[in-house]
Amino acid sequence: MRILESHVQGTWHAPSVEGIVTRHAVTGRPVAAVSSDGIDFGATVTYARDVGGPALRSTTFHERAALLKALGQHLLAEKEGLYALSTATGATRNDSWIDIEGGAGVLLGYASKGRRELPDGQVLLEGEPEVLARDGSFIAAHVATARHGVAVQVNAYNFPCWGPLEKLAPALLAGMPTIIKPATPTAFLTEALVRCIVESGILPDGALQLVCGSIGDLFDHLGGQDHVGFTGSAATAAALRAHPNLVGRSVRFNAEADSLNAAILGPSAIPGTTEFDLFVAEVAREMTVKAGQKCTAIRRVLVPAVHVDAAAEAIATTLSGTRVGDPADEATGMGSLVGTTQRDEAAAAIAALRTAASVVVDSCTFHDVDPTAGAFLAPTLLLATDSEAPVVHATEAFGPVATLVTYDGPDEAVRLAGLGGGSLVASIYSGDPDEAATIALGIAAHHGRVHIVDASVTSTSTGHGSPLPMLLHGGPGRAGGGEEMGGLRGLRQHLQTTAFQGSPDVLTRIVGQWMPGATRHADRGHPFKLHFDDLELGTALRTGSRTVSIADIEAFAESTGDHFYAHMDEKAAAASPIFGGRVAHGYLVLSLAAGLFVWPDPGPVLANYGIDRCRFAKPTYPGDTLTVWLTAKRKTLRAGAGYGEVAWDAQVVNQDDEVVAAYDVLTMVANRPGLNGAPDEVA
Ligand code: NAP
Repeated sequence: MRILESHVQGTWHAPSVEGIVTRHAVTGRPVAAVSSDGIDFGATVTYARDVGGPALRSTTFHERAALLKALGQHLLAEKEGLYALSTATGATRNDSWIDIEGGAGVLLGYASKGRRELPDGQVLLEGEPEVLARDGSFIAAHVATARHGVAVQVNAYNFPCWGPLEKLAPALLAGMPTIIKPATPTAFLTEALVRCIVESGILPDGALQLVCGSIGDLFDHLGGQDHVGFTGSAATAAALRAHPNLVGRSVRFNAEADSLNAAILGPSAIPGTTEFDLFVAEVAREMTVKAGQKCTAIRRVLVPAVHVDAAAEAIATTLSGTRVGDPADEATGMGSLVGTTQRDEAAAAIAALRTAASVVVDSCTFHDVDPTAGAFLAPTLLLATDSEAPVVHATEAFGPVATLVTYDGPDEAVRLAGLGGGSLVASIYSGDPDEAATIALGIAAHHGRVHIVDASVTSTSTGHGSPLPMLLHGGPGRAGGGEEMGGLRGLRQHLQTTAFQGSPDVLTRIVGQWMPGATRHADRGHPFKLHFDDLELGTALRTGSRTVSIADIEAFAESTGDHFYAHMDEKAAAASPIFGGRVAHGYLVLSLAAGLFVWPDPGPVLANYGIDRCRFAKPTYPGDTLTVWLTAKRKTLRAGAGYGEVAWDAQVVNQDDEVVAAYDVLTMVANRPGLNGAPDEVA
C-alpha cells in the first residue's frame, strides 16, 4: 500500500498520519493511504500566486500552448504506467483510454486552439473596438488578461486523469497556476499523473500543485482573483459554493455536478430503423462504459409508449452481450465500480428508483472475479411505472443503471426531459429533421449539449457521453450551472475582462493591435519591403490612385464570367433601389486595391493567405477614383517558422474620402535573415 504524497510549494510532502485507506476496486486489497495532514494551505496558495502565477503570466498564449503540447505528448509517451494503475479503479482498458488518452487529448486540443486562435501575446481583445467620440479620438475595447490568483480544482473520483487535465488545460493557457485536489477513492492515479508531469520538468515551478486528501482550510485563503472548479455531486457542489469566504470575497466558482441525462427515441424512429438500432446500442454502451460512472451517462431513456416493449427487449439483449468481470482482461466489456462504498450508494439509488419502476434486467454473469470482494454491480435497466414520478427524474444511480420512461408525442418528451432540472447532455434519435429540431429546441434551455443522431452520422457521431475540448461541457440547474471547455470559452473563467477607454494610440499600445484612428506612420517607405521584425504596428502606406472605368468593369466581367446585372445591365442597374446605375464588382474593387498596394518584387512578404471582415460600404461607380490606406494592424510570430503573420487594415476610399471597402489583408512576412528559423542571407 502506498502512502500518497502531495506536491506543494515545489516539493513532495508525505503526511505524518496514514489517513484514509482506499482499496483495489476488484480485489478489495488496500491500494493507498490518503491524507493531507501537515500541509500549510495558506503557503500553498501563496506559492501558486507568487511563484507559478508570475512565471506563467510572463509567457505568451503561444508559449503556453507549446507547454500544453509538450505535456500532452509526454503523457502519451508515459501512458502505460497510468494504464497499469488504472485497473485498480475497476476500469477496463477502454475506460482508461477515455480517462488517460482522452485527458492528454484535451491538452493537445487546447494547444492547437491556443496556437491557431489566440494572439502570440498576453492580452486578448474581445470583439471589436467601440468608437465613443464622433471624431474617433476616444475609443474603447474589451480586453482580457490573466487573473492574478490560483485555479483550485476539486475533482470527482470517476475521471482521475481526464478530470484534472480538462481543467488544467484552459487555466494554463490563460496563464493561471493550478492546485489539484483529486477525489480520495482514485487519488492514487491522479498522484501518479502529477508525478509524471512534475518529473517531465515541462511546467514552470508553482504552475501545478497537488493536494491528496482533505483541502483543510484552503478555501479560507482564497480571494477575488482565485477560481474554484468543482466536479462532483450536486449536494457537495451546493455545500462548497456556499462557503462563507467564497461568497464573501466573490471567488469565482464553477460547478459540474451530477445530472439525469436523457436519451430520447424520436416517434419516427420505429423498431427496424437505423435510428432505433443506434439508440439501443448507445443506451447499452452508456450504461456499461466506466460501469456507468460518467456524469454524462444516459440515466433516463425516453421512448414512445408504443415502442417501449421493443426498446426494453433490444437494450436487454445488447446488455446480455457485454462481458462483465475482471477489467484487466481484454475480453471484458464492463469492469467494476470504483469501490464498494460507491457500489452500495448505487444500489441504494436503485432501491429508491424501484419505488416507481419495475426491473427489466438486473443480473449478469461475473467472469473470473469474486463479485463480493470487488465493487461489482450488474447492468440494471428499469422501467418507470409512472413517467412523471419525481424519483425517476431526480435520483442519480451512479453506476450501470438507466430507467426507461414512456411518453406520447414530442411535446411530452420535451417536458419529461426538462423534469431532470437541468442536464449536461441529451441525445435525440430521429431520422426526421423536423421532429429532431422540434425536440432539440424544446429541450435546449435545460441542457448544455444536445447530440442528435440519424442514419447519416452512424459512423461519425462522437457519442452521447463524450465531452469534447472544443464543445461546451456543463449544464444549467441540477448539472451545476457551470461551463467548462467549449474551446476558448473555457479560458474566460481564468481571465478578467476589462473595458479600456482612451485614445486610439494608447489602446493600440495596451492591446498590441493597431486600433482605428491611431497614428499611421506613412514615412517608412513601402511596408512590404520590411521584414516581420522591423515592421511596427501602424506602419502604413497611402497608395496612388486609380480611376475605375466602364471598360474595367466589362473586362472584369468578361474574364471572370460575373455578368451580374448591377455591373452589366444599365437599365436594370438604374432601376435598382441600391445602386441607381452600373457599379464596379466588389471583387474588382479588391483587385484594383491589391494592384495599388502590392510591391511586385520578391521581398519579405511571402504570401497573402486570406481576407477577414470584408465589407463593401458604398458602391463604386464608373469614374470613381480609388485610393487605399494599408496599415500594419496585428503581428503574430510563428515560432521557428522563419516568418510571422501580419494582418493589414485596408481601407479603400473614393475621391470624396468615403470608405467603399474595408477589410483585413492576411499575409505571411519573413523574419530578418537568421532570425526565428529564417534562412541566413545569401552572400
Ligand atoms: P463528491 O462526493 O461530491 O466529491 C467530489 C469532490 O469533492 C471530491 O474531490 C471530494 O473529496 C470533494 N469533497 C467532498 N466534500 C468536500 C468538502 N466538504 N470540502 C471539500 N471537498 C469536498 O462526488 P464524487 O463521489 O467524487 O463523484 C461522483 C459524482 O460526481 C457523481 O454524482 C457524478 O455525477 C458527478 N460528476 C460530475 C461530472 C461533471 O462534469 N458534471 C463529472 C464527473 C462526476 P473526497 O473524495 O476527498 O471526499
